[in-house]
Amino acid sequence: MAMDGDDHSAFESVGGMGPADDFTVFLSRPIKASRIRVVSGSDSGDDALNGAALEVSSDGTTFKAAAKFDEKGVAEAKIGRSPIVALRIKDGGTSVTKLVLREISVISKTKVSHVLRGPGRPFSDLSQAPDLADWDARATKQMESFWANTEAMLYSDNFVPPNKVNIVYRTGPRVTPVAATGGGQMEVNSAYVRKHADDTGLTVHEVTHVIQSNTGEPGWLVEATADYVRWVKFEPQNFTYRIDPEKSDMRQAYRPGAVFLGWCELNYDSKLVNKLHNAGRLHQYSDALFLKYTGKDLVTLGKEFLAAYKADPAHIITPPLPAGMAPRPLPEVKEGTSVPADINGIFSIIAFADDGKPISESGGFDGEGSTYSATLLGSSPTIKGVRFKLGVSGKPNAVPSKGQSVALSGQHKSLWLLAGAAEGSQNGQEVVVTYTDGSTDKFVQNFSDWFEPESFPGEVRAVRMPYRNLSNGAKDPRQFNVYAYGFPLAAKTVKSVTLPNNEYVRVLAVSLAD
Ligand SMILES: [Zn+2]
Repeated sequence: MAMDGDDHSAFESVGGMGPADDFTVFLSRPIKASRIRVVSGSDSGDDALNGAALEVSSDGTTFKAAAKFDEKGVAEAKIGRSPIVALRIKDGGTSVTKLVLREISVISKTKVSHVLRGPGRPFSDLSQAPDLADWDARATKQMESFWANTEAMLYSDNFVPPNKVNIVYRTGPRVTPVAATGGGQMEVNSAYVRKHADDTGLTVHEVTHVIQSNTGEPGWLVEATADYVRWVKFEPQNFTYRIDPEKSDMRQAYRPGAVFLGWCELNYDSKLVNKLHNAGRLHQYSDALFLKYTGKDLVTLGKEFLAAYKADPAHIITPPLPAGMAPRPLPEVKEGTSVPADINGIFSIIAFADDGKPISESGGFDGEGSTYSATLLGSSPTIKGVRFKLGVSGKPNAVPSKGQSVALSGQHKSLWLLAGAAEGSQNGQEVVVTYTDGSTDKFVQNFSDWFEPESFPGEVRAVRMPYRNLSNGAKDPRQFNVYAYGFPLAAKTVKSVTLPNNEYVRVLAVSLAD
């Protein structure tokens, strides 16, 4: 690979090169190279990078020295065995007035057809705040991990946003109170940062400004977008906000604006922020774009937003989880403590049958003659320490759930169902435990279809079977599943459990356990 193979033509930068600058070339993939040769400085010998370093990297992140530029401005490096993916030129204090590169040659048996623009990253100047090295390292990781996402969120055609920013940490009366970004430089107030050890995410807000690059959006939207990227997308788990519900105008910077944008995206247009930014980039932003993209003008949207915020501030941008999706860990069970409940009396369908034995076409687990294999299921499977007692193969051995009440007794730590769903997953089903004192525990459970495990909260795959039996006795060689469902019990004596009122939930067994 070479720039143009001609030592007399050159790349020339407009500005000079200082100690914090570098020139980095990323290859499209790692290659083995035998040698790299870089020629710097003009034909007449000006701006030769005498003493500067040529470095190489095999991962694109960490670089090691490969050669130094000589007094003629030439660096020649022999490359070892490990493949390289990037090379970097770092000024070694030579401070040239411009960077002039006449040739970069990578001598390799592998053909390199093109190079990639590198991932976005910061370069930090900690000279005035060396104690913040750890804070800076954490911030750098966050900036690098989210740079590409931010670029994608704010993507606009025919524009390549900057992929680096210089960060300088300093403090004093003329320094921004927190952080500010412009002209390729991010200034971070080191006194603020010392007091806010966990606020490293503020740099993700600032990187958004780097990627926005002098957009033509109004100031409130520039800041609302940067906070939207940081809080709604990057660290929603840490996002706290308070909005004045008497506000009449939602053209708000920072967090309130970020919440408003998030709410608009959730309810109206999931690409709104990107669309507004694109208009801003073309200097065609106007408030009327809200009407265009959401069907409602800003004033109407703002009123609707504030009413929604007043009603349920906690779920303004994150709708509450459906009850069946709320996390619920499976109860722990001590082996040998389970007590199977007797449900033989309510069995009415044949959910499992012996291999090769035909059954009625209108029967079976799914009502179309298909069944679990009794051979694969066994007669008393133990799942997560819970032993279930099954009915008899080929006879009615499961319950289509229709709100039946199953009598229970004793005091136990957990209740378990062995079950599966037909006709797709059956979500939001109520399982109600009644205690002898008349009190109840209600659980909302999602049940996976027997063919499609979805790992719902409270559900565990009990038996996976490589086939099911068809009504004619043949095997259907796809994977089918039986699931176990665990429910924690109160420290009281149980009286009964009421099954869900949905006959597509098919229950094979019920057990109590400790
Ligand atoms: Zn900002």
